Amino acid sequence: MNPLSRARAVVCWLVLFLVGALWIGRQEYVDQHERFFQNTSVAQRMLSQKTVQHEAVLATLAALSHPPSPERLYPSLQPAMPQLLGLGHLPGGVWAGSIDQPPGLPAAVERARQLGRPVTLPIDNARYWLVSPSGWSLLLDARQLVPAADFPPGLANLTLTVGQPPLALLDKQPEDAVPGLTLALQKPLGAASQPFQMRSTRKLTPDAWPWTAWLAWAAASALLVAGAAAWQRSRAEARRQQEQARLAAMARLGTLGEMAAGIAHELNQPLTAILAHTRAAERLLDDEEERPAVRHALLASAEQARRAADIISRMRALVQPSSPARREALDPDALVASLRFLSEPELARQGIRLSWHNASPGARPLGDRVALEQILHNLVQNAADALAGVQGTRHISIEGRAVDGDYQFSVSDTGPGIAADAMPRLFAPFYTTRAQGMGLGLALCDTLAGSMDGRIAARNLSPAGACFTVSLPRAGAAA
Ligand code: ADP
Repeated sequence: MNPLSRARAVVCWLVLFLVGALWIGRQEYVDQHERFFQNTSVAQRMLSQKTVQHEAVLATLAALSHPPSPERLYPSLQPAMPQLLGLGHLPGGVWAGSIDQPPGLPAAVERARQLGRPVTLPIDNARYWLVSPSGWSLLLDARQLVPAADFPPGLANLTLTVGQPPLALLDKQPEDAVPGLTLALQKPLGAASQPFQMRSTRKLTPDAWPWTAWLAWAAASALLVAGAAAWQRSRAEARRQQEQARLAAMARLGTLGEMAAGIAHELNQPLTAILAHTRAAERLLDDEEERPAVRHALLASAEQARRAADIISRMRALVQPSSPARREALDPDALVASLRFLSEPELARQGIRLSWHNASPGARPLGDRVALEQILHNLVQNAADALAGVQGTRHISIEGRAVDGDYQFSVSDTGPGIAADAMPRLFAPFYTTRAQGMGLGLALCDTLAGSMDGRIAARNLSPAGACFTVSLPRAGAAA
């Protein structure tokens, strides 16, 4: 995996992990909040039941026509009500109680009568008198309402506001414990006479969070991303292989097309000549006197067929690099004579004169006859094409001479010459400026010359025309 896709995979994993972790965290928070709410409600119900019980006791006492004395009553009530610290009443305005009369009691009784229900008379932040309209009063200790152990174990901190400061009923998490998210809920107790505010808080400390689930999700998401990355890689690899196979197939087709076009280009000439010669022979066949002409046409036709066969075998040799081009000392005069025999009728038809001058008689180029013939034939054909639109002198001159260790043929014409921008691309396959051209002639000449350790070059002539030179090693010259 390259560094970029590794970084991308890590980012993907991070995003996936964070989204999942947030969801898990949120679920956990919702669960914790739900549990906290339920536990707090249970505590509120437990405390409320006790306060309602106080009202019931007071109502029962008020209903008694001959109530027992508070000193006797207290010991019988206390075991069932540990929060009860004392009780008493005011029959005829005189206090009778298990403990002393609290200050402010008559006013509290008056208030209770006005409200028609018991009222509280706080002593401190835990103890309070509950005073009924009948004058019966209970001294209660809020600390003893519910034993701490009876509260739901999930509760952390619980306070009850009887007086100031609020009374702590549970204190499992000290105020400055580790920082964390705090859940808080405040509710008044259910009895109308003792509507003390109960407040429950719970801090979600780090250990309350779902670390195991997060860790498992981190591992699972990493596996998921790694799996997805591997799958994507294998898909990309398969695509790459497909693409490579497609390109290779296209390249093979391209080469094949190039080859086919090249072969067609080269074979066109001899096949056209064979057709022309055999048609001429057919026309002359019935005339006894034309027998020599028929023979000549058939011979020429056979010569062209041999040339076509030679071209094909050369092509085969070219695509089989193991078979080296033949080297033999060639006779330039014979070579050009054969070329002229083939091309002159067509050139004459186009009004083109072909001349040959051997400046170094006796010198012999080393090479393959068919390949060299093909090169010269192509150069002459190109020169003829260049002369097609020329008014005035139409002349192609072929010259041969020894130059250093080489034998050099030059094919010059009086055409328009080669455009400056065409010059560097002349020998590239498929470069052509002709509407009917395939741009393979010069590329093939270049390949053929190279296969004989020769080279081909082009230049413009002054005042007009182009000159192509083919240099081949010279027989007898020191290498
Ligand atoms: P084609 O003949 O199919 O165009 P070639 O490879 O034989 O392909 O020639 C490539 C190009 O070189 C031609 O299109 C032409 O522009 C240029 N060229 C070749 N020979 C001559 C010439 N004698 N004079 C001017 N331009 C030439």
